[in-house]
Amino acid sequence: MNILKTHDELNAYRGTVRGTLGLVPTMGALHDGHMALVKAAREQCDTVIASIFVNPAQFAPHEDLDTYPRTLEEDIKKLESAGCDAVWAPGVEEMYPGDNMDSDIVPAAVSLPLEGEHRPHFFAGVVNVVSRLFDQVKPDSAFFGEKDYQQLQVIKHMVKDYDIPVDVIGVPIVRDENGLALSSRNRYLSAEEYEVAVHLNRILFAMAEKLRQGETIQDVKAEALLELQKAGFDSIDYCAVRDAETLLHSIHHPLRILAAVKIGTTRLIDNVGV
Ligand code: AMP
Repeated sequence: MNILKTHDELNAYRGTVRGTLGLVPTMGALHDGHMALVKAAREQCDTVIASIFVNPAQFAPHEDLDTYPRTLEEDIKKLESAGCDAVWAPGVEEMYPGDNMDSDIVPAAVSLPLEGEHRPHFFAGVVNVVSRLFDQVKPDSAFFGEKDYQQLQVIKHMVKDYDIPVDVIGVPIVRDENGLALSSRNRYLSAEEYEVAVHLNRILFAMAEKLRQGETIQDVKAEALLELQKAGFDSIDYCAVRDAETLLHSIHHPLRILAAVKIGTTRLIDNVGV
C-alpha cells in the first residue's frame, strides 16, 4: 500500500491511477465503521484511497482536537488488510499552507439545524477540508458514513451546488453487538459510561417503531426525552425527527431520527431511518 504524505507524492501516485478512483475521507483511529466505507469503495471502484487527516478547522477551541486519538501505524495496517491501495495522510501544513484555513465553499442550508446549532463552526470546517481533499485526490466517487447523517447531506449538497464532479455515496452505520454506533470517540467511554451509551440506539430504534405504528412525532419525542434522561445521559443536545433529506420539520416519510447526547465529556451522535 502506498503511503502518501506530500502533494508531490500524491500527484505522482494519482498520475499512475487508471480506471475509477474511490476516496474514503477519515480522521483516523479507524474501526469497522471506516472499514465498511473502504469495502464499499473496493467493490465499486478500481482504485481506493483513504485519507487520514484530523482537521483542525472542524474543531472549536473547547473541543478535543489535541486529545483526538491518533493511531496512524495501526490505521495503516487495517487499511492494508482491507485492500486499500493508498493512504493520503497529509500534515496540517500540506492541507492549510501557512495555517490559512480560508475557504470559498459555504455549507448549504441543510447544515444549519441540529449539529449546526450545537457546533456552529463544524460544517464550515468539514466542507473546507472535503473540498480540498476532492481537489487534491480528484476521485470519481467518495464514500461517507450515514453515522454522520447530516454531514452526508451537507456534502451531497456541496457537490451539487458547486458542480463538483464527484459521486457522493452513503454507507449504512456499523454498530457493535449492543447496537452502539462505532465511533473513534467510543474509546473515551468508561465501562459504566458504555452501559449508558448503549441506551441511545435502543431509544432511537424504539422511536422509529412507534412512528411506524402511527404514534405522533410529538408524543414519541416527549417519551424519548424522558427515557434518555432516565438512562443517565448527562445532557441531550437534540433528539429530533426530521425529513430524511432536508432535515426540516416534517410529518411525511421518509423521516430520520437524529440525536446527540453527552456522557461526561464524551459526545455521541446517532440516527435511525423511519
Ligand atoms: P471520522 O473519522 O469519524 O471523521 O469518520 C470518517 C468517515 O467514517 C465518515 O464518513 C463517517 O461517517 C464514517 N463512519 C464513522 N463511524 C461510522 C460507523 N459506525 N458506521 C459507518 N460509517 C462510519
